[in-house]
Amino acid sequence: MSTAPIYFTVGPTQLYPTVVAHLKQAIQDRILSISHRSKQFQDIYQNTDTALRKLLNIPSSHHFFFVGSSLESMERTIQNCVKSTSFHFVNGAFSQKFQNIAHSLGKKTYSQVIEFGKGIDSQDIKNNASKSAELICVTHTETSSGACTTPDAIKRLRRLYPDKLIAVDTVSSAPFIDFSISLVDVLFFSVQKGFGLPAGLGVLVVSDRALEKSRKIQKSGLSVGSYHSFESLYEKFRLWQTPETPNVMGIYLLGKVAEDMLKKGIKTMVKEEEKKSKLLTEYFAMSSIGHLLIKKPKHRSRSIIVVETKGNSLEIIEKLKLKGFIVGAGYGEYKSKHIRIANYPAHTLDGVNLLIKKMN
Ligand SMILES: *Cc1c(COP(=O)(O)O)cnc(C)c1O
Repeated sequence: MSTAPIYFTVGPTQLYPTVVAHLKQAIQDRILSISHRSKQFQDIYQNTDTALRKLLNIPSSHHFFFVGSSLESMERTIQNCVKSTSFHFVNGAFSQKFQNIAHSLGKKTYSQVIEFGKGIDSQDIKNNASKSAELICVTHTETSSGACTTPDAIKRLRRLYPDKLIAVDTVSSAPFIDFSISLVDVLFFSVQKGFGLPAGLGVLVVSDRALEKSRKIQKSGLSVGSYHSFESLYEKFRLWQTPETPNVMGIYLLGKVAEDMLKKGIKTMVKEEEKKSKLLTEYFAMSSIGHLLIKKPKHRSRSIIVVETKGNSLEIIEKLKLKGFIVGAGYGEYKSKHIRIANYPAHTLDGVNLLIKKMN
């Protein structure tokens, strides 16, 4: 008898345990055929908004938009918050992508580069962002290395730059957001990571201030995009609609999973996350497979665990696959040098214990 493999990949990943039942219900209720202009869809949008607001503690000053992916969120954020200049903290491939997108859109970009494998700490936040920078971009968890940004760093950013907009990529950390969302103007994530859902939906959370900035840029005659400009998304959001025909299934499932997570309680979820991450980090502190890439415990993401392997990581990945465990390869140039293991809410304590047993 062969059992289905467990996906410990960083995204797409293992489905959250309740997804299959919700999907069956959606099919049975004909959710996948409804019009996105119907009352039924408006209720779904509103329901997802309510559940996620509660789960992530999103203030009422922040609006809730659906887009295609997080790369799209990066592009929309730059278009709508930056007239000329952005500033980026870069410590890996995803933070670099954010800067590259700004550059591709013709913006002037500055960056503070932090060594790969290091997290962003409050000491890294110096008063050095150029005066002209309108937006500061930070990656909460750099999925290419497993390094995270400390909550103090975000606080310090806001204190040093009260007048600049701040955007935070929380793609591989949501639903675990350890800073106050009211400190930042834009936050985004995709559902195929921490929420354990099928890919194809990005969530973009935008403050009143960022919306105002977008209007100003538009008034100045510069393009802020078309159907997915902040204003266009906001106009429809107020009606619990989207400009285009959206991923109704994704929006529905996200609301249902957020409700399940609320029932469980974010505190219980954090405790489980800590427990599983402790098991994995303690294992790799002694394992002959390799060692943890991130040296400082407070820079270590609990959701993305990256191991620098002694041998070729692809061989280890292949062996684990035969035993029914799918773990991720290193990102880009580190493909055969690292393994990346996701520790999301969809990953159970039993699953993590089994993975460790097989690695042994
Ligand atoms: C996965 C990831 C992205 C890209 O998300 P998509 O949904 O593929 O666009 C961006 N930033 C981080 C930190 C990620 O982990």
